[in-house]
Amino acid sequence: MKVWIDQDLCTGDGLCEEIAPDVFTLLDDGLAYVKEGSKVFNEPGGADGLANIPDGQLDAVIESAEECPGECIFIEPD
Ligand code: SF4
Repeated sequence: MKVWIDQDLCTGDGLCEEIAPDVFTLLDDGLAYVKEGSKVFNEPGGADGLANIPDGQLDAVIESAEECPGECIFIEPD
């Protein structure tokens, strides 16, 4: 499964990073991005910045998407 964030809707509250820090990170622009290890998908972000969800992280990613106040975390099949 893959995940991406629509930064246009992100409120920058950081909930996703708190719940799943291996998958989400907040950058200096105050917005959240997905990542794979040390690679952050911020250029481009949005739907063109799709990260693979690591084994064991899917539940945390789903919880993040459910809790996200911007409703801007999108999970997609491979
Ligand atoms: S939980 Fe949603 S709104 Fe909050 S920082 Fe993460 S992506 Fe942005």
